[in-house]
Amino acid sequence: MKLTPILIAAALVAGCSGSTPAPPPPAAATPKIPLSSMPRVDAARLLEHTRQLSADEFEGRFPGSAGEERTVQYLTSEFQKLGLQPGNTDGSYIQKVPLVGITGAEAKPLVVTGKGRTTFKWRDEVVAWTKHVADTAAIEDSDLVFVGYGVVAPEYQWDDFKGADLKGKTIVVLVNDPQVADPSDASKLDARTFNGPAMTYYGRWTYKFEEAARRGAAGALIIHETGPAGYPFAVVQGNLGEKFDLVTPDKNMSRASIEGWLSLDAAKRLLKIAGHDFDALKKQATTRDFKPVELGLKASLAVKNVMRTIDSRNVIARLDGSDPQLKNEYIVYTAHWDHFGIGVPVNGDKIYNGALDNASGVAAMLEMARAMTQVKPGPKRSIVFLAVTAEEQGLLGSQYYAVTPIYPLAKTLANINVDGINQWGRTKDITVIGLGASDLDDYLRDAAAEQSRTLRPDPEAEKGFYYRSDHFNFAKQGVPALYTDNGVEFIGKPAEYAKQKRDEYTNRDYHAPSDEVKPDWDLAGAVEDTELMVAVGYRVANADKFPEWKPGNEFRAKREEMIKK
Ligand SMILES: [Zn+2]
Repeated sequence: MKLTPILIAAALVAGCSGSTPAPPPPAAATPKIPLSSMPRVDAARLLEHTRQLSADEFEGRFPGSAGEERTVQYLTSEFQKLGLQPGNTDGSYIQKVPLVGITGAEAKPLVVTGKGRTTFKWRDEVVAWTKHVADTAAIEDSDLVFVGYGVVAPEYQWDDFKGADLKGKTIVVLVNDPQVADPSDASKLDARTFNGPAMTYYGRWTYKFEEAARRGAAGALIIHETGPAGYPFAVVQGNLGEKFDLVTPDKNMSRASIEGWLSLDAAKRLLKIAGHDFDALKKQATTRDFKPVELGLKASLAVKNVMRTIDSRNVIARLDGSDPQLKNEYIVYTAHWDHFGIGVPVNGDKIYNGALDNASGVAAMLEMARAMTQVKPGPKRSIVFLAVTAEEQGLLGSQYYAVTPIYPLAKTLANINVDGINQWGRTKDITVIGLGASDLDDYLRDAAAEQSRTLRPDPEAEKGFYYRSDHFNFAKQGVPALYTDNGVEFIGKPAEYAKQKRDEYTNRDYHAPSDEVKPDWDLAGAVEDTELMVAVGYRVANADKFPEWKPGNEFRAKREEMIKK
């Protein structure tokens, strides 16, 4: 769930983003339009797009399905109605995204030998797959090694591997970052190590598998814990359907043969068989002295694949900038259109409608596009609206765009991403995922102030949301990216309301068939958030300089290098 903004300051001249009174702008500069004079966003339209896209007829919008066809048609037709140009240089609204879809199934169960012989139950205890584009993949009597958090982070003087040879072995690894206590207050996490409670990329499951591949491991099994992962095991089990990947030249053979997860109970059992205690090992893993622990056990597991390749589609449209020079520079709005399609029934419902995630974000992007076509004068730079595919499969559509961009990234000022909107009413604040990353936050702060609202850092930074939606692929390539989320101070609601509603959504509806439009939705807050995103994008589009990453940000060097070329 998220949203995104950007904005430029009052002082177009000085290029400062504060609220300092500025000298009158030069004649060429566009006077800043106050937010209150910008085109309004309509809650009824937001809701209507959301309803349409999440209707059962869209079949949960799975890549490659009839639901994709319907979704692509809907988006193309909406972009056309808004008078937007085809976003692809071939004159179409489509960027093809070649994907391989792999449906894995257990061929041989996970059997652990060495101290007796133990079989782990598929789906209940172990969820696994292979990224190899091959009919089968297996680990066979592969040595099991507990590698703690499986992290190598020179900037934190951290190395969980200590040179251990993991070739052909199977790592058992904890999810999230090493949870290092603050030396002066053991009840808190050390802010200087892995950002305290905020999750860094080292904590993401994708990192664990990437690191396993770099080490030449044959297998990687992540121990699932609901808190540190940020979602329950049921979400992991949801991975057992068809999974997509971009098609790489090596057919993903450089990945570990088997990637997967163990339920916490299964992991505890496994470690116990090896004569270890989970909590004790986990504790060791929070220190720099940690060394990989050979478990003295061997694992075997085989999966078989059913595969197909498809061209899925990003849907893309462009509003041409009004300035003859600046129109060759871009602001890119993104929202993923895909969800999980038709899957395992829950309470008799098998359609994963994805109303909030992310029919609502696409709806918001369509309304941002409408507002952007209405604002007078039109934005100087061009605005690109990109509805990406396969976010739920690992941010694949946005990865494809970011690696194969239609508009040069060096001329792309910003990405503003929306993944889920606020359906619980107005807030006094707005959350910025990764607050402080770039100048875009300053634009947002100024615009929010015009709504008498404030910015707030991610209250759940430990869940790593910064790495969990499409803006991350732009950031990874160096483009400043803005990704916001609901505020937490709901007007007229008790303080615990936000957390209550959020937990309710995470536990009941997140990636479940019950993510549907609910009768109690109140989009008044979403309207304000959406108007904010429009203002930010518009102001960046008219700004006299590019927004930058803040000093010390992990993506800044990449951007500087790109701009220099
Ligand atoms: Zn989403």
